[in-house]
Amino acid sequence: MLNVDKIRGDFPILNRKVNGKPLVYFDNAATSQTPQQVIDAIVDYYSNYNANIHRGVHTLSQEATDLYEQARIKIQKHFNAKYSYEIIMTSGTTHSINLVANGFSSLLKKGDEIIVSALEHHSNIVPWQMLCERTGAILKVIPMNEDGELILSEYETLLSEKTKLVFVNHISNALGTINPIKTIIDKAHQVGAAVLVDGAQACPHLVPDVQALDVDFYVASAHKICGPTGVGMLYGKEEWLNKLPPYQGGGEMIAEVTFEKTTYANLPHKFEAGTPNICGGIAFGTALDYMNAIGFDSIEAYEKELLEYGTQELLKIEGLKIYGTSVQKTSVISFNIEGIHPYDIGTILDKMGIAVRTGHHCAQPIMDFYNIPGTVRASFAFYNTKAEIDALVSGVKKAKMMLA
Ligand code: PMP
Repeated sequence: MLNVDKIRGDFPILNRKVNGKPLVYFDNAATSQTPQQVIDAIVDYYSNYNANIHRGVHTLSQEATDLYEQARIKIQKHFNAKYSYEIIMTSGTTHSINLVANGFSSLLKKGDEIIVSALEHHSNIVPWQMLCERTGAILKVIPMNEDGELILSEYETLLSEKTKLVFVNHISNALGTINPIKTIIDKAHQVGAAVLVDGAQACPHLVPDVQALDVDFYVASAHKICGPTGVGMLYGKEEWLNKLPPYQGGGEMIAEVTFEKTTYANLPHKFEAGTPNICGGIAFGTALDYMNAIGFDSIEAYEKELLEYGTQELLKIEGLKIYGTSVQKTSVISFNIEGIHPYDIGTILDKMGIAVRTGHHCAQPIMDFYNIPGTVRASFAFYNTKAEIDALVSGVKKAKMMLA
């Protein structure tokens, strides 16, 4: 059982008022809030260890390097990667996906096929379209059904010996659907294709075990897991990371440089050109410590309760439709009220101090599937409460009265 009152005490922002009302923060799928422990790690870094890493002989540089590399090990342990050098520190999910997509430019040829799903965030669509433009590879799409689930029988018909890579999200940001990624991975491997899983929305809710999944690449952002913005990770199996060429050139990623030839550093540094987000990386580790101390089993159970309560209460509002009705879903409710634009609902809720997301959620193909401009998305985290859901429901009722 979570002690939600105590947990809320860790988040200073939850005490603030917005438009004169207590903040109700339901935009967790966009970014999570930051506990004091993570804020302290950031302040501690700039107060005590601020120095560039990996290159200095001086004490500060060594201390910063140790903390940064300890964070990499925390990430490795959290995701159960075999080796710490299989964890590449990036600026976030988008950077991680682009790194892999860029690397595959040299591995694909015209006519090769790569498979995406209909449920993706634009970050897991556009870099692959750019890859297809560069290589002549063909992009295929796993379709979805009305409940917002992937149609696996259709996926099987797309797979062939031409398939080189499959990339799907673990959990949809727009609908909250949890995709059957283990099945997707196993089927891709049967035809020899590699799989990248976008875990941006899964990591706040569950702990992915990359070895048990046997996934080739897994990517995530710290800012969705109580960490800071501008930092994230790419897990890659050693054999794949060795096959991919470096993404960016610069300092840190080289073994030796002459004007005739440059040789590249070993993993993970081959993919980490330039000065990284040192403080962000360290605070990412602190954020994982924080979430693990609470415990993902308790987080999952509590968020399920919030999802069930929120769904039940919102559905009592006449004309309200929820998109994404799979039984396999996380604490995201995407909805509309008949005849009302989602943006208008979001604006009125903001006047009441309630933060939700409105729009296409960077997942326009999903909105096109439902033939809607967007939705109102309320996404719950482990620090939210049923009382806040009550505030949302009464806010939506008021908005409906004002706008209908
Ligand atoms: N994929 C998914 C499923 C997401 O939800 C997001 C963030 N909304 C991203 C990718 C992109 O993450 P970032 O902006 O942190 O790179």
